[in-house]
Amino acid sequence: MKIRSKLAWTYIILLIIGVITISAYSILTIRSFLLDEGIEQFERDALSVALAAGSFKDNALFDDKIQRQAQLSQYEMAVYDKEGIRFLTFPNDAFEEVESYLSESLLQELEEVDGDPIVRSEENPEKLIAYVDLGQSDNAAQYIRISQDKSQYYAAVASIRHIIYAGMFFSIGAVIVVSILFARYMAAPIQRLNEAALSIAKGDFDKEIDLNRNDEFGTLADSLNHMAGTLRADNEKLKRLNEKQSQFFADITHEVRNPLHTISGALEMLELENLQPEKKTQYMVTAQKQIRRIARLFEDIKTLQRYDFDENFINREIVDLQEIVKEVFTVYQPLAQKKELSLKTKNLESSFVLADSDKMEQVLENLVSNAIKYTLTGKIEIGFTKSDEVVEVYVKDSGPGIGKEHLERLFDRFYRTDKARSRDKGGTGLGLSVVKGILNAHQSDIKVESTEGKGSRFYFTLPLVDENS
Ligand code: ADP
Repeated sequence: MKIRSKLAWTYIILLIIGVITISAYSILTIRSFLLDEGIEQFERDALSVALAAGSFKDNALFDDKIQRQAQLSQYEMAVYDKEGIRFLTFPNDAFEEVESYLSESLLQELEEVDGDPIVRSEENPEKLIAYVDLGQSDNAAQYIRISQDKSQYYAAVASIRHIIYAGMFFSIGAVIVVSILFARYMAAPIQRLNEAALSIAKGDFDKEIDLNRNDEFGTLADSLNHMAGTLRADNEKLKRLNEKQSQFFADITHEVRNPLHTISGALEMLELENLQPEKKTQYMVTAQKQIRRIARLFEDIKTLQRYDFDENFINREIVDLQEIVKEVFTVYQPLAQKKELSLKTKNLESSFVLADSDKMEQVLENLVSNAIKYTLTGKIEIGFTKSDEVVEVYVKDSGPGIGKEHLERLFDRFYRTDKARSRDKGGTGLGLSVVKGILNAHQSDIKVESTEGKGSRFYFTLPLVDENS
């Protein structure tokens, strides 16, 4: 059974039970109210009939007057003498064995004679019966009995009952229609939410559920929309990652193919029998250079992969950046001298930071080696700009600079401003990506300012820490 039918049936059954209960309660209440009212009226009437009958007791037309009163009041009447013998009845057929009713020792001397009518129901539960003493006189009449069918009092209930029944059936009809409509209203969003969940399960995250409701269904729809949004974003991310990964492998293949070609060419030349020794050495050097390049490439790739997948790759401790800069300076000074470049440091002073010292060394090596690699004449400067809380480390050169159009993608893997020149100089195209990866792992980032023809300035900042903390 569908949820809609279940809901409809539940509402219908509950509401019908409610309507029937209320109707039955109303009928019973009205019935009992009318009977109570009737009894009070009957008592009053019995008293006035008795008074009237008492007043014309000595009259010769006593019988006629009693009959007349019975007709007018529509009560059944019976008159008894002192011994309780009935001698008058109206209407005649209404009182069979009526005389036997009075006795019971003259109804206990009419309940010790206080003059009020005695209402009895033991004789006949279907009727209201009252006895009244008519008082002393010469006439034989001593007691009068007045009665009426209870059904008379329920006559009004019968017509009210019909009104209530009509109302009840109308309410039940309305309940059925309203329940069906309400069940539909309640179940419609379930249907839509189910469809939406199914399409999400099938991988369609673009559908937006618009229920426009403030209840739990609205909240559920919002949650599903949110979930679809997250899945959509994740999906996009995965797609981009996949594309990046494919590009990455294509780039690696490309990067490896070139040096392999060169090595293969050099080896072919080395096979020549009458190759001059200087040429032989030259080809050997070329092959070794290319092998070193491939080794460096794989080293860089390995480093980058670890940044991607291993958050604990960074091993932080308190280190003095000045010491690291000095080491890098010492290593690269001969290389700069060989190219007749001036490599200098500026504003160096003890600067303690929380960092992985080996990785920081690698960052500086990559920046300084790039500066030496791409600068033809002039100077390279490694320096600090310190404030109270952070130290900025920069590597500035008077090299060719980098065009604005390259700046955005400069730190992407395998991105080069000039492919041929970079390869010529043994570059892998991964140096700056490695720098970025390391600094990002330190919650920092690499930045660059560059003017074409004038030079570049690469820099990053790290928060200073207390040496003893
Ligand atoms: P590569 O191995 O090619 O040097 P990098 O990632 O280290 O790879 O650098 C990416 C590119 O950025 C280089 O190919 C080069 O074009 C440019 N570049 C890097 N540093 C400098 C610099 N100091 N001056 C000019 N260009 C630079």
